[in-house]
Amino acid sequence: MFIDSHCHIDFPELAARMPEILAKMAENKVSHALCVSVDLPDFPRVLALAEQYPHIYASVGVHPDYEDTPEPTVEQLVDLARHPKIVAIGETGLDYYRLQGDLEWQRERFRTHIRASRASRKPLIIHTRSASEDTIRIMREEGAGTGQGGVAGVMHCFTESLEVARASMEQGFYISFSGIVTFKSAKELQAVALEVPLERMLIETDAPYLAPVPYRGKMNEPGYVAHVAEFIAKLKGIPLEKVAEQTSANFFDLFKAAA
Ligand SMILES: [Zn+2]
Ligand SMILES: [Zn+2]
Repeated sequence: MFIDSHCHIDFPELAARMPEILAKMAENKVSHALCVSVDLPDFPRVLALAEQYPHIYASVGVHPDYEDTPEPTVEQLVDLARHPKIVAIGETGLDYYRLQGDLEWQRERFRTHIRASRASRKPLIIHTRSASEDTIRIMREEGAGTGQGGVAGVMHCFTESLEVARASMEQGFYISFSGIVTFKSAKELQAVALEVPLERMLIETDAPYLAPVPYRGKMNEPGYVAHVAEFIAKLKGIPLEKVAEQTSANFFDLFKAAA
């Protein structure tokens, strides 16, 4: 069984096809999925999915790319994270690729999420793009990692260097690979995935974005995470079963979710 550790199946284009999406998950042996929150106005539909389906978990947080949206407070996030199906805080982090200019508000929002993670004891889902230096620095400054009183979390849809992967793992974080790792052009990322131990690895789709080969360019969905696992197994030269078992065990270890 595989687990999609990061998807957005509450987005209308996927939510409208829920029966098909659940059927594809079953067909591809994808036992669970984590539906990740991107802003507070849409959080109710994320929570509703987790409440409706036993094998769907959810998170609460405000994505760094969402500029014109209500800013969360630590108290608000902690309060919403009390729900038993809310297993993480995020997605949060920094994105200097999509947005430019004075992004101090992004860094402040990131700090708010780390504080909420520490207070709620729920792990972080971190998004970082073209901002790895500040991301790692703020994680350290706010004590996001297990060595500093935090509960760590996952660096989702990882596309950074091995150095950034190591700096994250040193703080107790897992590294999650998406369909990007299956792309022909992703040689550097594949080299990173080869070095990240399976014991520190999660897999995800980030659906509806970034469908893995052989669906590249199409709408992504949680069932396709099986293709990410297949690629990792081939890359590392290990049985697919081992990737399935270990990444699923990692998911439950990190998110303290009941299987
Ligand atoms: Zn993201
Ligand atoms: Zn995402």
